[in-house]
Amino acid sequence: MTNNAARVDPVAFGLDGLGGLMADWGEPAYRADQLYRYALKGVPPDRMMTLPPALRSRLNETLADNRVIIVRELSDGQDGCVKYLYQLSDGQRVEGVRMRYHHGDTLCLSTQAGCRMGCRFCASTLDGLARNLTAGEMIGQIAVASARSPARNIVLMGSGEALDNYDNTLLFLRAANDPRGLDIGMRRVSLSTCGMADAIERFAGEGLPVTLCVSLHAPDDSLRRELMPIAQKYPLPRLIASCKAYIRETGRRVIFEYAMIDGVNDSPEHARRLASLVRGMQSHVNLIPLNPIPERDLRPSPDASVAKFQRELEAAGVSVTRRRSLGGGVQGACGQLRQSVMNNNRSGGLRPLD
Ligand code: SAH
Repeated sequence: MTNNAARVDPVAFGLDGLGGLMADWGEPAYRADQLYRYALKGVPPDRMMTLPPALRSRLNETLADNRVIIVRELSDGQDGCVKYLYQLSDGQRVEGVRMRYHHGDTLCLSTQAGCRMGCRFCASTLDGLARNLTAGEMIGQIAVASARSPARNIVLMGSGEALDNYDNTLLFLRAANDPRGLDIGMRRVSLSTCGMADAIERFAGEGLPVTLCVSLHAPDDSLRRELMPIAQKYPLPRLIASCKAYIRETGRRVIFEYAMIDGVNDSPEHARRLASLVRGMQSHVNLIPLNPIPERDLRPSPDASVAKFQRELEAAGVSVTRRRSLGGGVQGACGQLRQSVMNNNRSGGLRPLD
């Protein structure tokens, strides 16, 4: 295992930093360019085959190890959804999901190992935050999953809160967008946040046309505070103002995510309050039936309540879809696979598949 803390992420180092390193080592300047292109594509130093072997091994000992490997892969025959459990160089594990849509695959990436946001319904946060992922490790997830099969869209909706790991997430987005690397158009990227309003405003000014998804899950602050501790810091008026700033700055609509929890947030009255909260905004509401997690006593809303809730929103002129609950069969909800593997581990038995 590598101790990455003392090492430099080549993606974060950038072309200039790598240029300086190559100069210090007496290497020709074009090596930095070769090296940076590899790093942008998630290639680890020992596989940078156009570099001389001695340089490869020196880089291996110097640069942060962003290697990501797939230790488990679960697929659900029904919806074609695949869940990956990734292992990082220090043994931390994060999750990813591949969702199949008619217009191509979408890959869901993690930005942190664990999470410190404390949402009541979410498995990722049960053990708190382990650590932030580097930009290179976010690229690494795409690299390893794309080796299985290419993906068209990227969503930052795996474990962690991307805006709580702001600098690495921004580095990642700019690196993923770089034509020398993966060349991913930012319109194909969505970033989901629990609602860190100040970071949303900062993100609005970055000049990236990323789709912002905001996890709302409640139409009023008292219920939202029960479900999501972040609501104590950023009450709804503040959160909604930051979303409006995002729409204004980027010209993009905001997606509000709403996990439907039986008897908690799914009444017609909740729908009406949600409608008055978002009405008139350039936005869309995604209703997602809760994926129940064994650690919490919360159940998904029955189909009939979801349908009624949706009709109520439509009647109020809100653009809304019910997201097909992808990945329930593969523990697709945030943090579920990692959690179940960690629980298994405690009682003795992780077997890497394949
Ligand atoms: N930190 C980001 C990404 C989290 S995961 C955020 O909060 O948005 C992506 C989405 O899945 C979020 O909307 C999150 O609230 C939701 N989610 C988490 N656990 C869930 C569960 N058990 N069932 C349904 N949705 C869940």
